Amino acid sequence: MAEASPPPTSPPSLEPGNALFLDVDGTLIDFADRPERVHLLPQVRDSVSHLSERLHGALALVSGRPLAQLDALFAPLRLPAAGLHGHQLRGTAGTGQAPADASASLHRLHQAAKHLAATLPGVLVEDKEGIGLALHWRNAPQAAQQVLAFAEAQLAELPGYRLQPGDHVVEFVQLGRDKGVALELLMGEPAFHGRVPVFVGDDLTDEFGFAAANRLGGWSVLVGTRRPTAARYALPDIAAAHAWLRQNAGIPG
Ligand SMILES: [Mg+2]
Repeated sequence: MAEASPPPTSPPSLEPGNALFLDVDGTLIDFADRPERVHLLPQVRDSVSHLSERLHGALALVSGRPLAQLDALFAPLRLPAAGLHGHQLRGTAGTGQAPADASASLHRLHQAAKHLAATLPGVLVEDKEGIGLALHWRNAPQAAQQVLAFAEAQLAELPGYRLQPGDHVVEFVQLGRDKGVALELLMGEPAFHGRVPVFVGDDLTDEFGFAAANRLGGWSVLVGTRRPTAARYALPDIAAAHAWLRQNAGIPG
């Protein structure tokens, strides 16, 4: 019988030479019934702020959300960040716009998705700044198969895109960018250069970040119980992630 790989264990403490990459939803903040209804606990914002100082600015958010939403959630902090799975990068040249030839197809997709959502109560369509689109079924778990079948069929009409599955969501994401690419690009920035990357995330899209951090000589932390994973370490839930961040930020309790 093949030996199963050992389950990931608790992460070690960060060292001064680390660079920290944090996913947001499902890692720092809990899911809500609608993506815009989430909020960040003030004490978590404090931990992130302290940690950023401890790491001399080598702390970045890496999220599927647009940068504008990340800034609103973390205000008054304005952290280095990758939004929309790396299509938007703060501080690098990689700011993303939908290619001209994709906007008409994206518009058609948006219309078709709205029609689908109208027939499936609880399914949400999220426009990602005209660069991508997400279909959420957290409030309609019975619709998962229909939404996924719709997404597969629509993908054929949208060259240059791929489907990114996630937790009760599927997203249309442009080819060529993912959280691993985002990590590698941010590692080229002065605040990050020469440091050892650590990526913390929960979802399938974070596996790209885990693999990139591991490949660059760093390590990775899965938040939650999803398996299999490329992450070397795991924290059981968001509360444990909060506690780990607080401890690494040097905040007692
Ligand atoms: Mg997440």
